[in-house]
Amino acid sequence: MSENPRYSIIAPIYNEEGNIQKLYDRISAVMDSTGESWELITVNDGSRDRSLELLAEIADKDSRIKIVNFARNFGHQLAVTAGIDHASGDAVVVIDADLQDPPELILEMIERWKAGYEVVYAVRQERKGESWFKLLTAKLFYRMIYRITDVDIPMDTGDFRLIDRNVADVLRAMREHNRFIRGMTSWAGFKQTGVSYVREAREWGETKYPLKKMVRFAMDAVTGFSYFPLQIMVYFSFILGLLAVIAIPVIAILRLILGYEFLGGQVTTIMLLLIVSAFQLFFLFIMGQYIARIYDEARRRPLYIVASRYNLAQGAGKPAAVESPSEAGMEVRG
Ligand code: UDP
Ligand code: MG
Repeated sequence: MSENPRYSIIAPIYNEEGNIQKLYDRISAVMDSTGESWELITVNDGSRDRSLELLAEIADKDSRIKIVNFARNFGHQLAVTAGIDHASGDAVVVIDADLQDPPELILEMIERWKAGYEVVYAVRQERKGESWFKLLTAKLFYRMIYRITDVDIPMDTGDFRLIDRNVADVLRAMREHNRFIRGMTSWAGFKQTGVSYVREAREWGETKYPLKKMVRFAMDAVTGFSYFPLQIMVYFSFILGLLAVIAIPVIAILRLILGYEFLGGQVTTIMLLLIVSAFQLFFLFIMGQYIARIYDEARRRPLYIVASRYNLAQGAGKPAAVESPSEAGMEVRG
């Protein structure tokens, strides 16, 4: 194998057959203009269309195009993770395959990186061609995450960003299963800055993030970086406790001393029961979300399974064993 390339571009691919040629054309034009070496690592996340076939055709002709082919669909965040695991460049750029993120912006990111920044994230100034529902939920989501998490996750940024080798190595050492990569990069620290851009509409095809995946993603973000949902339970317990402390003597006095016969009967009891049960079940659900994620970690399954690789050495992409020497010799990507 030749020397490490200067830049690694990572593109997760899930049913993107209509975008692949254009993606390759635009990225190679932009990257060639830097005059430095680069690789494009595509991660085929269990596509059911002709994506892999098209990628392999390109990879046959151009050995800078590499493919990590997953055994099934593992989801966007894990596809990006596999890309970072396999990247060998001094700077790593994560970009969507649907060309919503303009590859031309990479040049600006590289400039900032050369000026000494280790994370350069792209901030969406404007988003084109998205439904009002996606725009609204995304806006709310980023503001909520910003408020309740302990790390400063910049608003309106996606995974489109450049990270330095140092940061990539930190991410490679973080083997958590339910990943919110933009939070993980913020958590890692380093010198960070943003460049703004207009997010275009998708070139081809439809979003691969239906509501269900978006909700899951939001849950991963919250549980991964905040204890807030667990902690607010205490306020509810205070409020209910306070109500009990006040209401019980008041009702006792009204009933026993003044003889009022109200608030009796089953209807009141049933209503209270329903309200309190709803609260309790909701908080059980929240606890369950955290517990399920603990279980995910406890099972220690690999994060993803690679079925095949193109233009990559066998056994490439081992996670960095910085913090977990016990796993250092294993081939599974834990
Ligand atoms: N993607 C993936 N696996 C998935 C879903 C999405 O690899 O399970 C890829 C997809 O091919 C695209 C990127 O992740 O390159 C972002 O997905 P998408 O454009 O559908 O998300 P949106 O831009 O609508 O938020
Ligand atoms: Mg997209």
